[in-house]
Amino acid sequence: MTSIDASSTPSDDRSALRANCADCFALCCTAFGFQRSTDFPIDKPAGTPCLNLADDFSCTIHESLRPRGFRGCTVFDCFGAGQLVSQELFGGTSWRERPGPSAEMFATFSVVRQLQEMSWYLVEAAERTAASDLVAHISRLRTGIQRTLDGGTSEILAYDVESLRADIRSVLIDVSEEARGGYLADTAPDDDLHPSADLAGRDLRARRLCGADLRGAILIGADLRGADLAGVDLLGADLRGARLDGADLSDTLFLTQMQLNAARGDEATLLPATLDRPGHWATASHTSSPTDGELSP
Ligand code: SF4
Repeated sequence: MTSIDASSTPSDDRSALRANCADCFALCCTAFGFQRSTDFPIDKPAGTPCLNLADDFSCTIHESLRPRGFRGCTVFDCFGAGQLVSQELFGGTSWRERPGPSAEMFATFSVVRQLQEMSWYLVEAAERTAASDLVAHISRLRTGIQRTLDGGTSEILAYDVESLRADIRSVLIDVSEEARGGYLADTAPDDDLHPSADLAGRDLRARRLCGADLRGAILIGADLRGADLAGVDLLGADLRGARLDGADLSDTLFLTQMQLNAARGDEATLLPATLDRPGHWATASHTSSPTDGELSP
């Protein structure tokens, strides 16, 4: 199986960690399954092409995913795993063209997506810390990920992702404490605002949030309109349906495109330079039938 350039070193350019659907064989529309829910109108088993997938790997309902109930497709982000697996690890030969089962390609995609997501967080962590030991640790972790990718499919599939995830989690917590420290120096701790807090549906507009550790918090439908989220750790926070209109997220920690895609915002929402304003936000602010903004092929 093809491997990535063995001499390659981890890049700090996050563009390689963003989806490029044009260079992907629609792996997210094929490898993963989904169940009928508020995010999908049908069941689809893993390892089978979606019924809306065209022969050229485009989506036949791309322009109307949300009105047709495929909201989940407009939220998903592969962190660049799709093009990496399609073009580099499998040499540009699609699962349609390959002889035999495609299970190996789909399984590789699943692992690589996790590695790419972890790389995304590590790149940000390296930018956020001034501690030399953390910088060195992050560099080692990123080099380890790159070597695994360089090793090709067999190494990727054998990789202990959960062990790596635990190691990275501890690094991200350390970096978060360092980055949030300046915001918390003059404020009393807020008992409500803590990791994994259940803040679903809560009106948080008047709360002082800067520097809060909301890692893993449930913010489904929370009202954050106009809020200043500088220095807020949102690692893994569930932002589905959260109102972000006019909020300042430009200096949040560990925010991802998927979280933004799942939330609601508007043209006044301030975002980190590394993330895009979801296409469906503008429409959602003015009508009840949002469209576009898909991360689909
Ligand atoms: S983007 Fe289109 S083809 Fe892909 S899973 Fe969604 S509906 Fe199906």
